[in-house]
Amino acid sequence: MRKISHLLLFALLCLAFAPVNPAHAVIDAEPSQTEIDDYRDLISQDVRLAGIGYRLAKANAAYCSQKMQYSGLILHDIAQYADPQFIRHIFPFTQEIEISGVVKDSPADNAGIAAGDGVINFGDNLWQWENHPAPTSWQKGFERLADFKQILRGAFNENAALSFMLQRGVTRQQFLIKSEQVCLSEFEVSSGGNLTAGANGIKIRISMGLMNYAPNDDELSVVVAHEMAHNLLRHRQFLKENGVSDGIGRIFGKSAKLRRGTEEQADRLAIWLIYNAGYDPQSAINFWIRYGKEHGQGIFTEPTHDRWKNRVKFINEEISAIHKMKLDNEKLMDEKGFVKLDPPLLSAFRIENILDDGAQQQ
Ligand SMILES: [Zn+2]
Repeated sequence: MRKISHLLLFALLCLAFAPVNPAHAVIDAEPSQTEIDDYRDLISQDVRLAGIGYRLAKANAAYCSQKMQYSGLILHDIAQYADPQFIRHIFPFTQEIEISGVVKDSPADNAGIAAGDGVINFGDNLWQWENHPAPTSWQKGFERLADFKQILRGAFNENAALSFMLQRGVTRQQFLIKSEQVCLSEFEVSSGGNLTAGANGIKIRISMGLMNYAPNDDELSVVVAHEMAHNLLRHRQFLKENGVSDGIGRIFGKSAKLRRGTEEQADRLAIWLIYNAGYDPQSAINFWIRYGKEHGQGIFTEPTHDRWKNRVKFINEEISAIHKMKLDNEKLMDEKGFVKLDPPLLSAFRIENILDDGAQQQ
């Protein structure tokens, strides 16, 4: 039953991102309840991922080298859908760009903003609609939304608090979002049933298949934190600078060794990131054992990635190290015995990069 709904959802995603939507190209078909539910499920997974990402990026902000201002707004553009008429049956779209979701307890949530609010403008009319007319294709719809997000990000980095003029139903309302500083990170759910995850330096992508594979947020936080660790330690840049091949060569010799080193670091750092965010580090063991047994040859276990038994060993070592550092910081513990800890891999990375920056300036 679960498999069937995945297939259906995948088919819907293909429809949503296809240039022509054959099912709805001719007549203004109304979506079925299943279609409505599947689109809403997609949005709710977006919100779920952003929520986990926010918790990780906020809890570890003090230890990250690169930071950004975060609002908690999740957006979509009517033009990114192949059949805007069809999609209006599912989402209100009172304006062309709309809040698709709001991360719980984020600045946007605290400001009272809700899913379905249409964006009229923000700041001092920082978004010039006339410079961004209605896109002519769904690809251009994604491009317009990317432009919007870039301008919004820049505005928040200049002014931590920004006003928003939004349309809710037939009324216009003003809201003030006081953004928060978090680790530089973006999150995106990608379509497809495969269990894939990736990090490009800033953005973290988790496939819909993997979102559904992780039964609870504690387990999903393990995968998100692993990818975030790659970004925070700038592994992509490190591998590029060391001439590590992206192609098939990556699984041989020096390339494989360097990649395996970055994978081990990501596994180790992830445990500290999830601990600081209040997730259960033990979930990492549960996740990798389950994943390892079910997908021994999956993407996480190709020769560049350590076998799951090794990963469990690293994780146990890090859990012991966390326990030890907690005892060293006993006086700082709260009433529940919790104290935030500076992950050793991040403190070493900060020192290394300050030294590097200094060396470059000389
Ligand atoms: Zn990895």
